[in-house]
Amino acid sequence: MAPPPAAAEQIETTTTTAIHEEDDGQVVNPWEVSAKDGGKIDYDKLIDRFGCQRLDHALIQRVEHLTSCPAHVFLRRGVFFAHRDFAEILDAYERGDNFYLYTGRGPSSEALHLGHLIPFMFTKYLQDVFKVPLVIQLTDDEKFLWKNLTVEECQRLARENAKDIIACGFDISKTFIFADFNYVGGAFYKNMVEVAKRVTYNQAVGIFGFTGEDHIGKVSFPPVQAVPSFPSSFPHLFSGKENLRCLIPCAIDQDPYFRMTRDVAPKLGYHKPALIESLFFPALQGETGKMSASDPNSAIYVTDSAKDIKNKVNKHAFSGGQDSIEKHRQLGANLEVDIPVKYLSFFLEDDAELEHIKKEYGAGRMLTGEVKQRLIQVLTELVERHRRARAAVTDEMVDAFMAVRPLPHMFG
Ligand code: ATP
Ligand code: MG
Repeated sequence: MAPPPAAAEQIETTTTTAIHEEDDGQVVNPWEVSAKDGGKIDYDKLIDRFGCQRLDHALIQRVEHLTSCPAHVFLRRGVFFAHRDFAEILDAYERGDNFYLYTGRGPSSEALHLGHLIPFMFTKYLQDVFKVPLVIQLTDDEKFLWKNLTVEECQRLARENAKDIIACGFDISKTFIFADFNYVGGAFYKNMVEVAKRVTYNQAVGIFGFTGEDHIGKVSFPPVQAVPSFPSSFPHLFSGKENLRCLIPCAIDQDPYFRMTRDVAPKLGYHKPALIESLFFPALQGETGKMSASDPNSAIYVTDSAKDIKNKVNKHAFSGGQDSIEKHRQLGANLEVDIPVKYLSFFLEDDAELEHIKKEYGAGRMLTGEVKQRLIQVLTELVERHRRARAAVTDEMVDAFMAVRPLPHMFG
């Protein structure tokens, strides 16, 4: 039975208190992702602990119906697997009410890896099928606060990352990219202090796990990531549309920020932002951790050459195949732990081919080497396509996407 609205409100608030306790042995927060010793990330437990909902088949069908487009492979394959109030966004859309998308990136590294691309690839699909505006936040200030980088270096990385983001194909007539060091101020800053005033120190400690040793820059940061959820933070886009809903596609480790935001939004007269949340793209070594920029062997970067990709997959991609051919022919591969199959399920679009590979490999008729071969092809094409698109992004284009300007054709 669905809880009455009052109880649902309470769940959202009370779960803000237990995030860093990790009583189930896995750590998932915006800065760290690790499974319980050697196991896989337990996403069902995460949904319980965070208090979000599983994205079910009926919702995916509704998306197809409303957009008259086949669902993105990330929806069909459960890469985006959890949500908050996504049904409300679809209800509103069905009634003819508009919404906007908000996603972002902390520019901590020069080169993005495949895990970083996932929310952007998916957001591009959402923008295309729903024909809605999008704001993309580059949290150069966050990276300054959390990493050992200068302000100037963070600003430089933000622009470099913006090129990779633009290369994903966003529509300039519907997309505003902004970096915090430049954009924060005015209406945006006003919303930040409105949020800050409504979150206690104890709540922030509960949600983010700050300790007395953390500098206060970290404590003061969450409102910066919260307020792009409110249309009034973008007067040049949404003036007079304060009632507009916001949908945030992101990886599930960002949930704490938006749990906090959802608590505050109604107190300021806004809709709670809705969320659609993804799994982590796993490390080459296996699903105990996410692909991470700080471990080069775990990651395939969009700057890797065909040769790098081939070497990394052959050398590091954890295989569920058996250790001798005879045993493999007899027992087949363990698809549950096999990284090549996992990666193919993210990036091989052809459902029939994926099923074929799983069947043949699982039965031992196909060998690890053959599956890796196919993965290398798929990833090389993806990275090659990205490289070409990025090479075509000029500094002028970055300036154009980041210009504070109205977007007269942002809906439709
Ligand atoms: P580092 O290892 O230096 O922390 P990182 O690869 O974790 O780098 P971040 O810049 O910390 O990259 O990642 C920022 C956000 O990007 C994460 O909080 C998460 O939301 C998303 N992200 C990073 N890695 C993945 C991944 N493998 N799958 C899905 N999302 C990811
Ligand atoms: Mg990280």
